[in-house]
Amino acid sequence: MTVETPAPSAALPILSHWIGGRPIDVPLDATGPVYNPATGNVIARVPRGGAAEVDAAAQAAAAAFPAWRDMPLIARSAIFFAYRQLVYENREEMARLVTRDHGKTFPDALSEVMRGLETIEFACGLPVHLAGMMTPNVSRDVDAFTLRAPLGVTAAITPFNFPVMVPTWIYPIALACGNTLILKPSSHTPGATQLQAELWKAAGLPDGVFNVVYGGREAVVAIVEHPLVKAIQFVGSTAVGRYVYEEGGKRGKRVGAYTSAKNAMLVLPDADMDLAADAAVASGFGSAGERCMAQTLLIAVGDTAERIRPKILERMARLKIGNGMEPGVDMGPIYSSEHRASIIEWIARGEAEGAELVVDGRSFTNPEAPDGFFLGVTLFDNVKPDMAIFQEEIFGPVLGVVRVATYDEALALINGHKYANGTAIFTTNGGAARRFKLEVDVPMIGVNVPIPVPAGYLSFGGSKLSAFGDLAMRGEDGVRFFTQQKMVTERWPEPGKQGLLSLVFPGNS
Ligand code: NAD
Repeated sequence: MTVETPAPSAALPILSHWIGGRPIDVPLDATGPVYNPATGNVIARVPRGGAAEVDAAAQAAAAAFPAWRDMPLIARSAIFFAYRQLVYENREEMARLVTRDHGKTFPDALSEVMRGLETIEFACGLPVHLAGMMTPNVSRDVDAFTLRAPLGVTAAITPFNFPVMVPTWIYPIALACGNTLILKPSSHTPGATQLQAELWKAAGLPDGVFNVVYGGREAVVAIVEHPLVKAIQFVGSTAVGRYVYEEGGKRGKRVGAYTSAKNAMLVLPDADMDLAADAAVASGFGSAGERCMAQTLLIAVGDTAERIRPKILERMARLKIGNGMEPGVDMGPIYSSEHRASIIEWIARGEAEGAELVVDGRSFTNPEAPDGFFLGVTLFDNVKPDMAIFQEEIFGPVLGVVRVATYDEALALINGHKYANGTAIFTTNGGAARRFKLEVDVPMIGVNVPIPVPAGYLSFGGSKLSAFGDLAMRGEDGVRFFTQQKMVTERWPEPGKQGLLSLVFPGNS
């Protein structure tokens, strides 16, 4: 169903950019609609920022940088503790805004906020993370040590699917390291962003350290091209991530881009089939399949497909689809009507390619909300590796079963895929799991865990076309990404000793 875009209405709330510690209002004609996908209604207006707003945010961030960089670490850390507490206290309001804009169920949204909180908690320990290393006596009267220096103005460009968790995987580390930041969230799900800015202010963050510019392509191009922006972490599709990585890199910026995925779970015949069926349904259809770590391919070895298929079907039939705010709902709508149309096209394509369409989600309707962007869950069996529905990301509630004879065949399919974000093996055999961990060419691995998103204080990132750049997000890699290591070599001669003039390259013995 196509939902008409209503004319802008002054009655709707209009979000404001957040620059220099205060909201920056924009005229109605410089905004776009925000939909509630569960009703199809426009519920707010979001600014369409561009070069002028990015420049204002970059200037504010640059002005705030020296004092933020020089703030004693324990004082900086205290702001993080306060922010952590405020996010915790406002977790339900944040989750409600996420469900409203995105459509995912309220418990799912709440879990997203809590997972984001883990990275904020990691950042509270910033005095420890920023410690350098000291090596005394590298030469006569000479010591060496490392410093982790912030980079300056940094940016986070984030996707629609985790409006709280993905930004909170980036900005706490960037700020903890002493940088200032511009957040450019997705315009599809901006509702919880302003609250995050307001909570930073309430926590005592100095003005200009955290800034928000809303917008689409124009705002992203302005960030990529702005000379004051030293580093960018991007999360989103491969096409846009590659652009940010390549164009940012050409301009001397440090860029990490964490991008699209097509994750496969490998199920061996010895697996606990109930556990694996639960995992496939939860991972494939949770958040309507709009997670970069969803396992949307199930590679079934030997007779696994015959045994697991009825269990998956039985679980799919039990799923309740509806408004994510309603208790008992398992899956909400698709986030936009355009994306819903694209998933419908993918289902038609899979059918045309010859995959067996076992359950067709296109027939689902929600009589309570006929204008909502709802779609049912879809199951394909006998998906073949040369099909586009095997190779490409659909980012919707579409699970495909691939049948293979051996573990080696399954491994070759996973390792041959162009995307490499997350994968999982389901087995009761520790030796098989061990072999998989060593042999699989995917960085985030689950063993009997279907959504192997590492805890918020550990690093997160894929490879191949699922990530661009040398470092992962968050954790130790995040601290390295957002700091420049300086090496200091320092001489303090013994009192009364003189140096000797020598033109020989300095030795250390
Ligand atoms: P997207 O690439 O459309 O948008 C990401 C960001 O880029 C948004 O802020 C958006 O406003 C901006 N943008 C969109 N189009 C642009 C353009 N043409 N030029 C410049 N900027 C543009 O991604 P999305 O649809 O919001 O998110 C879904 C994608 O994100 C999926 O591919 C998913 O796999 C991926 N994702 C990856 C991870 C990860 O960690 N690897 C995590 C979450 C989502």
